[in-house]
Amino acid sequence: MKRKTIWFILLSMCVFALTACTSNVNGTKDESGKLKVATTYSIIYDMVKQVGGDKVEIHSLVPIGANPHEYDPLPKDVMKMADANVVFYNGLNLEEGNSWFKKLLETADKSGEDAPVYQVSEGVEPIYLETKGLEKEPDPHAWLDINNGIKYVENIKKALIKEDPANKAYYTQNAANYIKELQKLHDYTVERVKQIPAEKRFLISSEGAFKYFGKAYAIKTGYIWEINSENQGTPDQIRHVVDLIQTNKIPALFVETSVDKRSMETVSKETKVPIAGTIFTDSLGNIGTDGDTYLKMMKWNIDTILKGLEQEAKKK
Ligand SMILES: [Zn+2]
Repeated sequence: MKRKTIWFILLSMCVFALTACTSNVNGTKDESGKLKVATTYSIIYDMVKQVGGDKVEIHSLVPIGANPHEYDPLPKDVMKMADANVVFYNGLNLEEGNSWFKKLLETADKSGEDAPVYQVSEGVEPIYLETKGLEKEPDPHAWLDINNGIKYVENIKKALIKEDPANKAYYTQNAANYIKELQKLHDYTVERVKQIPAEKRFLISSEGAFKYFGKAYAIKTGYIWEINSENQGTPDQIRHVVDLIQTNKIPALFVETSVDKRSMETVSKETKVPIAGTIFTDSLGNIGTDGDTYLKMMKWNIDTILKGLEQEAKKK
């Protein structure tokens, strides 16, 4: 064989190998056989982990403790998104707050109609915002009603099966076990709420994230600002919530882990009503803490809110 021919064959083999590598990176599972998943924030990350188990490798974009309404993706996020076999996002106006997610999908070449991008809140009945000018925007915090959380898990299961049908039985079993736990926690919450008289059930948080929660568990809700993507803690907002607290003789306030706490501290000072606990809305707790899974954060919230209301009401 002539030297030139040998070189040509070697070169062709190299190009072939490179092409094979590239297409592996962009479409199929990694060498370990795991499905590559990207999620927009930590709560969906945990749900996908519960259903996908060791068959998936997940990258969550917005870090724990941060605000998913607004986010500046890092270069590694763009790479993980481009590389993902499946992408999950909340929808209902969460990641669209300042359209960071839409831009990221375009950059990562995942904005086409047939891209494997799934909205986990599909099928949830939206509750709309009430701030003037925002009435057509859905409130995104549907996961704070555990029944909606169960819908999220069903959607995640369906999507994983569609993208990775070989593991259908595994995903189906994991989802069934997980939904059983969620159902138990939902029932516990309904029962626990009944221990407090209806007129004492009033939850004040910084962001108005608890509409779905309040509706599901018969708890009235109030807030300083309605959604994190708008102005936070303006003098008008503070005055309004102070009035609400005084008129309704609300005994306790709560503050979320993923917001600036100073506004609630101001409200507490002005009303002399204590902040009775920290609760989770837009993010899980740090790994190893009480709210580090969706199940644990929801349990923490209900226990903290009801205990806080009970204890402070007794002191009055
Ligand atoms: Zn929020």
